[in-house]
Amino acid sequence: MNKLLPTSTAGSLPKPSWLAQPETLWSPWKLGGQELAEGRRDALRLSLADQLEAGIDVVSDGEQTRQHFVTTFIEHLDGVDFENRKTVRIRDRYDASVPVVVDEVTRRGPVFVADAENLRQHTDAPIKWALPGPMTMVDTLYDDHYGSRADLAWKFAEILNQEAKELAAAGVDIVQFDEPAFNVFFDEVKEWGVAALERAAEGLECETAVHICYGYGIEANTSWKRTLGSEWRQYEEIFPKLQRSSLDIISLECHNSHVPAELMELVRGKTLMVGAIDVASTAVETPEEVAATLRTALQYVDADKLWPSTNCGMTPLAREVARGKLEALSAGAEIIRQELAAGSR
Ligand SMILES: [Zn+2]
Repeated sequence: MNKLLPTSTAGSLPKPSWLAQPETLWSPWKLGGQELAEGRRDALRLSLADQLEAGIDVVSDGEQTRQHFVTTFIEHLDGVDFENRKTVRIRDRYDASVPVVVDEVTRRGPVFVADAENLRQHTDAPIKWALPGPMTMVDTLYDDHYGSRADLAWKFAEILNQEAKELAAAGVDIVQFDEPAFNVFFDEVKEWGVAALERAAEGLECETAVHICYGYGIEANTSWKRTLGSEWRQYEEIFPKLQRSSLDIISLECHNSHVPAELMELVRGKTLMVGAIDVASTAVETPEEVAATLRTALQYVDADKLWPSTNCGMTPLAREVARGKLEALSAGAEIIRQELAAGSR
């Protein structure tokens, strides 16, 4: 990236109200068939325009073509039964009715590749594309076939690697794996989680990122956060292993969280997407608030390795709020760019 402090988002942005119920996770589509296919493509272009107009440098599809960041990918796999669901505890936090792995899982064909080609046609800006990470996929299913979370994760990693290679060939510059489960299952992260992530990213000719957060701003997550105490040290458990991993970029939650900033020191050398936008609050940050978060991060991250970003996806927010937050992110990053330029004169 030539520009200093290139801005990006963790991934999702709100969908237009004609496409899906606003401010809702797992929101059902309002269109069907050919209308839905066309509506998703239109929404992707609107989401891109919002990002570019707000001055976001590394753009995404805003996840306009998927209902949910994990389940939409799993829907395209064979070996998973969506009819006879079972209830499991997700990320040790809340119960959800989930699909069941009943046979060997395989990818029927490309899942997001046509969407990525579509986005590539409409912009020359660098594109980051999000996929679920292997551990988070395992944690969103009931397994009735493999009998081992590690074995199932490895299988998912192989499937994700096929998809990621095709996304890179379609012109995606950065493939990001979303692993919020890394903040919960520390032993498994060390035993097989990072290895599975590296398998998913193996041999990719584009850059690779991993996004680890404390979740969307939904009630189950905000009440979990209240139990974490005054200092959130989850990253301390996993960052040393990630620092030694093959992944290029680490996306983390920062603004308004209780994550001690000095934990960023543990992944020095990696590019860090620093969350300077709180996705659990409808209050739009001021550019100065964004700048303050970035200034703190710069104590632990080299300026050429710092990418200002959002804490997590913004899909549950109102569109106007999300747009305001994107603009604040850009304006806050610009404040720091000017400070850095003035300081080096
Ligand atoms: Zn997230």
